[in-house]
Amino acid sequence: NSPLSEVDPEIAEVLQQELNRQRDYLEMIASENFVPVAVLESAGSVLTNKYAEGYPGRRYYGGCEYVDVAEQLAIDRAKALFGAEFANVQPHSGATANAAVLHAIARPGDTVLGLSLDHGGHLTHGMKINFSGRLYDIVAYGVDETTSQVDMEEVRRLAIEHKPKVIVAGWSAYPRQLDFAAFRAIADEVGALLWVDMAHFAGLVAAGLHPNPVPHAHVVSSTVHKTIGGPRSGFILTNDADIAKKINSGVFPGQQGGPLMHVIAAKATAFKLAASDEFKERQERTLRGAHILAERLMQQDVADAGITVRSNGTDVHLVLVDLRDAAIDGKQAEDLLHEIRITVNRNAVPNDPRPPMVTSGLRIGTPALATRGFGDQEFTEVADVIALALLPGADPEPLRARVAKLADAFPLYAGVGPSGQP
Ligand code: PLP
Repeated sequence: NSPLSEVDPEIAEVLQQELNRQRDYLEMIASENFVPVAVLESAGSVLTNKYAEGYPGRRYYGGCEYVDVAEQLAIDRAKALFGAEFANVQPHSGATANAAVLHAIARPGDTVLGLSLDHGGHLTHGMKINFSGRLYDIVAYGVDETTSQVDMEEVRRLAIEHKPKVIVAGWSAYPRQLDFAAFRAIADEVGALLWVDMAHFAGLVAAGLHPNPVPHAHVVSSTVHKTIGGPRSGFILTNDADIAKKINSGVFPGQQGGPLMHVIAAKATAFKLAASDEFKERQERTLRGAHILAERLMQQDVADAGITVRSNGTDVHLVLVDLRDAAIDGKQAEDLLHEIRITVNRNAVPNDPRPPMVTSGLRIGTPALATRGFGDQEFTEVADVIALALLPGADPEPLRARVAKLADAFPLYAGVGPSGQP
């Protein structure tokens, strides 16, 4: 029972350095967040030792009496949080949740209509070398070049033309809300099933600040680690009893073996916290922060540098910056911000002239900083720092100092180490 620092000092050092990095940098990757110490506690617990193939009360292993309690709590809380009749909380990640969804509601070779990757969709919605693109016949819709928003006329046209088995609504990089009712109407018109992947905006839904896809979709998948701010993992919801059965067997044995019970216990805690007033208040700050950022990046000095905000704003937790007319590309912009200790990721924009490793866009999100405690004042400051950093000839020194001041004012995981222990 020796501590990590004795058993494996090299890995102990990695954990410490990563904690230091998270503390010293401003985290603005839209898909990231900081879990509470209570979640670290379950995620790093003895539950990692337990095999529990099957579902609560119906396991293929003995000794599941306690992990059953954890999984049932996670299921009940997920159902209550999103108003769903059925939840599967076993997916190890968003990608495995999505694989299980397609496994449950489609067969290899079926046609699936989803948002194209370079227009903001996810790999699992049909990217060519992802399992989705390899196993299914993918048809992609995109966003309108002028509005940067999904064109429902195009979705309907493609749905009528290709008669997909499944229509996917959901995104990894999209600054607006989707019209779930319109998607459902199209799905019904062509006899397709509607699958909504709410991985990014699930926390906003839980807080009542974004339309809930559950009443409209046949099935909804999600991650737990983005806006919800829980452990890295996924889950699936539906109101359809028949689809529920297929989802259960689609996850296990269809897609996974033993569930990660330590992560499932941590999910239960994340869902509990997501029902609180504090959580709602945090999601409100998240949205206001993104709005403040978009407004700053639409000011004249930034526009003069050829930098634009896609869709002229945001109503979610992220802002998409378009650099197609700017002197810098996505990679350079990401590096410039990294230099002043702000972490973001470059992102392809539709019809991107640059290769995927370079890109002409940036995706900047506010969930992690809202969790850290940022409010309007701090988001105004960080938005100004980002705007100035992207302008030609920016001096990084004073900007780095402004970042350091913000980071120092909001200590992260104060008083604990990388595993959440004092
Ligand atoms: N679905 C969407 C919309 C996502 O944005 C992501 C992650 O970026 C995923 C699924 C996959 O989640 P994971 O990285 O946990 O596999």
